[in-house]
Amino acid sequence: MISDYCSKLSPRLAALLQKVFPCECLACRNARAESIGLCRACLGRLPKNEHCCRFCAEPMLQADLCGRCTQKRPAFDDMFAPFVFAEPVDALIREMKYGKKPEMCRALARLFLQRIRHGPRPEVLIPVPLHPHALRKRGFNQAAELAKVLGRSLDMAVWQGVVRVKNTPRQSSLSLAARRRNLQGAFRIPEKIPSFQHVAIVDDVVTTGTTVETLASLLKKNGVRHVEVWSLARTPHQP
Ligand SMILES: [Zn+2]
Ligand SMILES: [Zn+2]
Repeated sequence: MISDYCSKLSPRLAALLQKVFPCECLACRNARAESIGLCRACLGRLPKNEHCCRFCAEPMLQADLCGRCTQKRPAFDDMFAPFVFAEPVDALIREMKYGKKPEMCRALARLFLQRIRHGPRPEVLIPVPLHPHALRKRGFNQAAELAKVLGRSLDMAVWQGVVRVKNTPRQSSLSLAARRRNLQGAFRIPEKIPSFQHVAIVDDVVTTGTTVETLASLLKKNGVRHVEVWSLARTPHQP
């Protein structure tokens, strides 16, 4: 058993071995991982986003249209978010984002792939870009890393031709209207966009959907016909 050997090795070697062959559950850290780096109990309590709005994937009591999409369709055509942003997925995403952990990114991508829908695949994956200042500070764009892992597994290209020209930190404390204002002109496509018909924007978590909406509008203005969103998780309704 790797876990038995780990205890007898020097801490550095044990940490290295743990990185290559993780033996404990990435979520609870106190049981042995069965598959995808998670123990059986954590795999059993994954918060699946089964009943959600058919346009924006907002978690609901039953599959239908959410209040916002009833009034106005979002700029993107559809969203796939297989998990609700709740335990233990929320902790895994935070650890991937702030801990810069590639093993966490791989595990989350595999969880996403297990639940991926059938149907026509987009031509490219477009990760939500970070502003260069934010990227320097964090050193890791979780959406781009996730898109790369998904792209490798699905044999799809990743296109990173969108840049973020406006840094908008701590959006979560703002109202929806303020978020929208804040994001106006936040993204730009500096070079001519290839003639994509069908793309998927990739993000780790979608909260109000304002960021992916802004990005989807820009892509549509640049001639993309069908824009879908792939997000690991979706938060429940935000006022
Ligand atoms: Zn566990
Ligand atoms: Zn909706």
